[in-house]
Amino acid sequence: MTQDFHRLPSVDKLLSDERIREIGGRYSYPIFVDSVRQHLEQLRLSMSRGISCPPYEEIVNSLHSTLRTLGEPSLRPVINATGVILHTNLGRAPLSHEAAQAMKGAAMGYTNLELNLESGKRGSRQTHIESLLCRLTGAEASMVVNNNAAGILLVLSALAKGKEVILSRGQAVEIGDSFRIPDIMRKSGAKLVEVGTTNCTYLSDYEEAIVPRTRFLLRIHSSNFKIVGFTQSVGLNELVNLGKCHNLFVLDDLGSGCLLDTSEFGLDHEPMIQESISAGVGLAFSSADKLLGGPQAGIIVGKKELVERVRKHPLARTARIDKINLAGLTATLLHYLRGEAISKIPVWQMISVPLSEIEVRARQWGTALPHNAYDRGIATVVEGESMVGGGSLPGSSLPTRLLAIRGQSGGEGRFTAQKLAQTLRQQQPPVIGRVEKNLLLLDPRTVFPHEDEALLSALHKSLWQFN
Ligand SMILES: *Cc1c(COP(=O)(O)O)cnc(C)c1O
Repeated sequence: MTQDFHRLPSVDKLLSDERIREIGGRYSYPIFVDSVRQHLEQLRLSMSRGISCPPYEEIVNSLHSTLRTLGEPSLRPVINATGVILHTNLGRAPLSHEAAQAMKGAAMGYTNLELNLESGKRGSRQTHIESLLCRLTGAEASMVVNNNAAGILLVLSALAKGKEVILSRGQAVEIGDSFRIPDIMRKSGAKLVEVGTTNCTYLSDYEEAIVPRTRFLLRIHSSNFKIVGFTQSVGLNELVNLGKCHNLFVLDDLGSGCLLDTSEFGLDHEPMIQESISAGVGLAFSSADKLLGGPQAGIIVGKKELVERVRKHPLARTARIDKINLAGLTATLLHYLRGEAISKIPVWQMISVPLSEIEVRARQWGTALPHNAYDRGIATVVEGESMVGGGSLPGSSLPTRLLAIRGQSGGEGRFTAQKLAQTLRQQQPPVIGRVEKNLLLLDPRTVFPHEDEALLSALHKSLWQFN
């Protein structure tokens, strides 16, 4: 095997190969040479493990594709046909046209981000959004930060370090990817005191835990799970009243938080930011890129005395929102102000789209498939459910229609639903579906109508591949 090494082409030979030279010319020369070296190094490594030297043509092909992908961004748009509207792995909320335009404007030029145009003096980036947030939620004051988790950490660091914060054991949630909200909170230096049991917490549990060191009562919305059966929890109003008796504010982590009532769309009621404010919480926290339908950001609204102290804390700088997201969030909030959120914000368009429209598109997709797949029953339109997802509305779904493509076990054109799903993920743009049993399921709810053509072309290419 080792004697094979002399059959490997030299760096110079590959550098001067016409095909390699052509693609390598896209990069600076040192990067080009380095990539060729590295590629040969990889080959040498696998040969030392017993793999025989590939033919020259094969080496050129694999080097060519390595050089090609080197210059392509790994992060790219995909078509979300999963039916999960806020899919954390797919980047949560897609933005409205207006929000994207505002972000482009802020990105490509200068802005009055921290300049008071009237006085010519330094201003705060928060002023661009505060009155808007206060008007929409009824709060006295607001602050936007990089994301919700950062907001919670910042507030506890600024206001509760070395003090105790009481929360219900049933609300100590993990938000996914093994991130636990209580773990994040503890990093602030606040001591979390968990009261009650997993399924039952009573007002008296909170009350008995209140000591002079107590700084806040905390509510965390159980955003991604549901406790059913014998349960007992304390309502927000009760908690706020208890706090008042002891001179304590309630901090309310809404998770998603929203400004519109989800129950009007046949979903469970997701807690709204306005409700927390009118209940009298000290501060309410929410993510801008969940049901709000904006870019990544954390929204803190509530009492002025608390917000002012948080803004002055040194850590505020580390959680700061950037100008691009600030522009996108402002444009998103303006949709709510104008009463056009449902028609303009993609998340709400997807929640409110009529079932009949979804069904029509699923059928159109089906009849456009190759090999008469639809007429032959390989593809059918079936009833199913779309999820809101993204840490909101657990156990609540929207009825939908799915295009279902059955995996083919026998004969020519064999493919499993898994295999088809994988092939679709490798198309340009990638199409992400769901697999259940041996069915590939595609939900039109989360696919933008302007993506239909690309989705069908990806389906064609993938199905042809198996024939
Ligand atoms: C999603 C979520 C968070 C974190 O929000 P990010 O914006 O992702 O930082 C915090 N708390 C709850 C309850 C959540 O659902």
